[in-house]
Amino acid sequence: MTTITLIEGDGIGPEVAQATRCVVDALGAPIEWEVLEAGLPAIEAHGTPLPAHVLESIRRNKIALKGPVTTPVGTGFRSVNVTLRQELELFASVRPCRLFDGVPSRFDVVDLVVVRENTEDLYEGVEFEMGSKEATKLRGYLDYMHGFKIRRDAGISLKPISVTATNAIVHFAFDYAKRHRRRKVTLGHKANIMRFSDGLWLDTALEVEKGYRDAGFEAVQVDELAMVLAWHPEELDVIVLPNLYGDIISDLCAGLIGGLGFAPGMNLGNEHAVFEPTHGSAPDIAGRGIANPIAMILSAELMLDHLGLTAEATRLGRAVRAVLGSGKIRTADMKGEGEPSTTSEVADALVAAVEG
Ligand code: ATP
Repeated sequence: MTTITLIEGDGIGPEVAQATRCVVDALGAPIEWEVLEAGLPAIEAHGTPLPAHVLESIRRNKIALKGPVTTPVGTGFRSVNVTLRQELELFASVRPCRLFDGVPSRFDVVDLVVVRENTEDLYEGVEFEMGSKEATKLRGYLDYMHGFKIRRDAGISLKPISVTATNAIVHFAFDYAKRHRRRKVTLGHKANIMRFSDGLWLDTALEVEKGYRDAGFEAVQVDELAMVLAWHPEELDVIVLPNLYGDIISDLCAGLIGGLGFAPGMNLGNEHAVFEPTHGSAPDIAGRGIANPIAMILSAELMLDHLGLTAEATRLGRAVRAVLGSGKIRTADMKGEGEPSTTSEVADALVAAVEG
């Protein structure tokens, strides 16, 4: 038996997490759950969105399956997602985006994977508030030392990109592509504008690439990448990006495959892994029983695969394809005519498919 830390999260989190748990339990996988709270319920119960015992549980179990968690604005709490990624050194975020038969999309075929650097870039939280003593000092220093003029009414966020983190994520992307028999790695950057952050990202990647000469590789500017994705997504395969571009481009890719309700994800480090859907807590539809649980169920499939439970992962993937392909399920995010399927109808159909 493997123990997994299960964090339901908040908003639609508990709805999609419970549906996922039902489906995974129906597979009969040798898994037991340690269910813990993070996000809004944890603030109510423990005064913090990420209590120490939750972090300790993931450290101990090494694997967590997690629903979306809201970062309440203006409360002074740090994002649970960002904290988890940094504390557990989950340096790689992997978001496969595959279009399933039965899901409406503008495209016939989409099958790509976004690999996002998870630990630095503008997410590192090195920020200076407009008008603060620190911002004023920094502005003064930059002007005095380098002649950089920053407006008095500007807030400042720094974008550190290191050789260490770039090396790690680019190696990861090439190794992932090889393991999953992917044909090409595309690196996104904006090196012409940010020479010392994106420029270093690009130069470091070009060095790493020399060790993977049998793999396809291209480096493209991230704005051009966005255009190609919206026009000819079939030209792309594995896409490796720094943190912020990765965040934006993975939502764009979710849009190509029918929406956030179909986009799973995993955050991997050398020791720990946290599996979670790409979508957030969607407070607009929370509690209505209409959230699409597929993204979290596909995240559980990635988890089973990661655990080496290949047969269970394969059965689950097959069940998702069969249920969506049958055209009987139409979740609210798929739009269309008539009453949408509920979260529990999707779960029931999947339970029947894995048991059948
Ligand atoms: P975050 O900032 O955490 O990424 P967000 O509020 O920007 O979150 P999401 O919560 O991810 O965005 O979702 C945006 C919208 O997409 C939601 O308001 C909801 O209408 C829809 N949506 C997201 N996930 C789902 C889902 N699983 N099922 C149905 N609709 C969803």
